[in-house]
Amino acid sequence: MENFDKEHLWHPYTSTTKPLPTFKVKSAQGIYIELEDGRKLIDGMSSWWAAIHGYNHPVLNKAATEQINKMSHVMFGGLTHSPAIELGKLLLSIVPKSLTKIFYCDSGSVSVEVALKMAVQYWYAQGKTQKCNLVTIRSGYHGDTWNAMSVCDPITGMHSIFEGALPKRFFVHSPNCRFGDKWNNTDITELQNCIEKNRDTLAALILEPIVQGAGGMRFYHPQFLKEARRLCTENNILLITDEIATGFGRTGKLFACEHAGIEPDIMCIGKALTGGYLTMAATLASDQVADTISSNYPGVFMHGPTFMGNPLACAIAIASISLLLNSNWEENVRRIESQLKQELHPAASFPQVADVRVLGAIGVIEMKKEVNMEKIQQQFVDAGVWVRPFGKLVYIMPPFIIRPEQLSFLTNALLNIINSKPQ
Ligand SMILES: *Cc1c(COP(=O)(O)O)cnc(C)c1O
Repeated sequence: MENFDKEHLWHPYTSTTKPLPTFKVKSAQGIYIELEDGRKLIDGMSSWWAAIHGYNHPVLNKAATEQINKMSHVMFGGLTHSPAIELGKLLLSIVPKSLTKIFYCDSGSVSVEVALKMAVQYWYAQGKTQKCNLVTIRSGYHGDTWNAMSVCDPITGMHSIFEGALPKRFFVHSPNCRFGDKWNNTDITELQNCIEKNRDTLAALILEPIVQGAGGMRFYHPQFLKEARRLCTENNILLITDEIATGFGRTGKLFACEHAGIEPDIMCIGKALTGGYLTMAATLASDQVADTISSNYPGVFMHGPTFMGNPLACAIAIASISLLLNSNWEENVRRIESQLKQELHPAASFPQVADVRVLGAIGVIEMKKEVNMEKIQQQFVDAGVWVRPFGKLVYIMPPFIIRPEQLSFLTNALLNIINSKPQ
């Protein structure tokens, strides 16, 4: 039975014939992940941006059990319920004001598919059927489903395998100007040219605001986002911001678009929405987008997932967002940011390190060469921390509840391991 996992279960981005080792988890509590063998690891990943309050949180557990005793799920077609309504009210009180319509869906990738379909149907509704393509910036990541994949970075994404079958999108270079650098206006030129040239066939620009996550962990200048917003408005294309990773405080703002003071036409949220408890996401749209789709043929938006508006997920999301808003999240994220800056900084002078960068509760060490995943993963576990790098990127985004001494333990382990031997 011990080999069942290895022999039968597919893990993310993993081979079935040569799978990397997996570590069996017994439970998780606060910022600790406890392995079957009793070892406790300090979590540096928040289970891929999601578990912002840590694990097994009494408030979220209570919300889950109370809701499950009422109903776990009912279909959203023709029915509605308080968890969906209350979550909607809460979301509208924190997202950019121009977003007023909420489409609940099951995962981040699906919310991106929904956003892209909304953009295309928005122009279809106005008889502009040729405005159905998309433009994006390189180094992006928007999920693993078909159309989400088509706007992922063409190199780090999966375009080489699926090229023949993927729709062709417009790609421009991602911004050179980093967050905190001086703005250089030439950074926007390529996007401007592309949008002006292709405005008649473009439905939307889609990008991750400020922080590009799984496509390269890059932090770019807010002015780029401001200029992008302006170009979309001037050229009649929609702006879709994918806040699935950045949403709910991770970058130091509740939503990353606030760094630039802009509002999108469509926004995707997910990951931390339920505090890492259940899969749930949402696509939010402006009245303009929603009402244009709805007042023209066929008069409805053509999407409807089976588990849309799942009450259990909604109830937990309400508890998670309330917990966040009632915590000192801003102060916590700022404290984590300054501690990460201070404690990761020494790595910048290691010969094997190309770059160190920090924004909000995200710390990134970019190596010069790809790390040996199997080896480094084992080293992290042996050191009592859970960190999962990809490629050249060793990065952490811990739960916001992590205490200073626990974060120091994590950053110490990180520095020791990347400095131990050339990886
Ligand atoms: C994770 C992620 C997605 C995909 O979300 P899933 O829930 O894994 O489908 C999309 N966009 C961004 C920016 C993400 O970080």
